[in-house]
This record gives sequence, C-alpha cells and structure tokens, in this order.
Amino acid sequence: MARYTGSKCRLCRREGGKLFLKGEKCFSSKCAVDKRAYPPGMHGQARRRTSDYGLQLREKQKLRRIYGVLEKQFAAYYDEADRRKGSTGENLLKLLECRTDNVVYRMGFGVSRSEARQLVRHNGVLINGTRTNIPSYQVQPSDKIELTAKAREQLRVKAAVEAAEQRGLPEWLEVDTKSMSGVFKAIPDRSELPSEINESLVVALYSK
Ligand code: SF4
Repeated sequence: MARYTGSKCRLCRREGGKLFLKGEKCFSSKCAVDKRAYPPGMHGQARRRTSDYGLQLREKQKLRRIYGVLEKQFAAYYDEADRRKGSTGENLLKLLECRTDNVVYRMGFGVSRSEARQLVRHNGVLINGTRTNIPSYQVQPSDKIELTAKAREQLRVKAAVEAAEQRGLPEWLEVDTKSMSGVFKAIPDRSELPSEINESLVVALYSK
C-alpha cells in the first residue's frame, strides 16, 4: 500500500504541534516543532487568516497523519464511523485506535506508529496466536497481542519497550513487558484519548 515517505517533522510543523511521529526524538530538544514553531516552506512565517473550512481541513489532516492513514482509507473510516450507532467523531477515533499498528505502538513495542507498522508488516506480530501482517486489521477487546521470538530479539524493540515502560502504558491495555505480549482489554473511552484532537471539526468537514 502507498504511504507517505517525506519528512515527518514537516507534517508536525504544518499542523502546528507535535504529532509524535519519530519516537524518541519527539521527546528531545531536537524536535523540529520546538525549534521552529511555524509551518514549513517559504511563506511559513507569513500571517494567515484561517477560515472555518481551513480549521476543519487541518484537523482532519492532523488526525490522519497521527494515525498514518492515507486519504481514501481515512474517508472509509469516516463512512464506517457514521454508519455505526453513537457519536460519529468518537466512533472514528475508536476505529483508528483499534488498528493493529496503533495497538502495537500503544503497547510500547514500537517507538512510533510507523515503526509498529513495520513490525506488523514484517510478520513480527501475532494476534491470538496467529501471524497478522495487516496494519489496519481491527483488534477486538480481549485479543492477545504478542511478538514473535525474532521480533523480541530486536534491539529497537527492546529500547522501545523500555522507553514506553518509563513513560507509562495506557489503562485499556494489559502489557507484560518481559514476555512482550499484552491484551487489548477494551476499546478506550473518549476521555482516555488525547484531548487536543477535535474530532467534531472532522465530522463538520465530512458532513458538508
Ligand atoms: Fe513531530 Fe517528533 Fe519531528 Fe517533533 S521530532 S516535529 S514531534 S515528528
């Protein structure tokens, strides 16, 4: 599947905040958003007025970039979220949270969602004992996620787990960092997910 291969820090600067796309660098003084807090490009520092549409578009791009999902797939998530009962915005966030690459990242097995995605693509992840190499596969509550013996030996995986352990792991996951396995206990509530995402702007954009 196609994916964005350009500069990740550029995406954060465009969205005006940290999207945590590069692992440890995001927590260091080398973060590009901390160093240059304005959009990239020649007119990055020019003053701009943003329309309602512009705000909605930026929020959609931000959410899409955080989870590493391309436009078409994101639109499909929106359609599915809208089709389900309840708040469309919350359903959208929940669908994104249940992606396998996201769950692997949240469990701390990758320093970023893109690294977790690579781990999944390279057959390093088992779900309920079955090899699963589709990053968009929807994990269900009670599913057990574990790494293969080969993946567990990777130094970058060990470093990622150590860093995640220090920062703390989400409540909706049960992670055994020693055996590098965990259980997706439940789909997180909206209150447990980052408050800086304004999903209602995304819904407003797609409902036009
Ligand atoms: Fe974004 Fe991380 Fe780059 Fe900072 S270091 S700009 S948070 S990807």
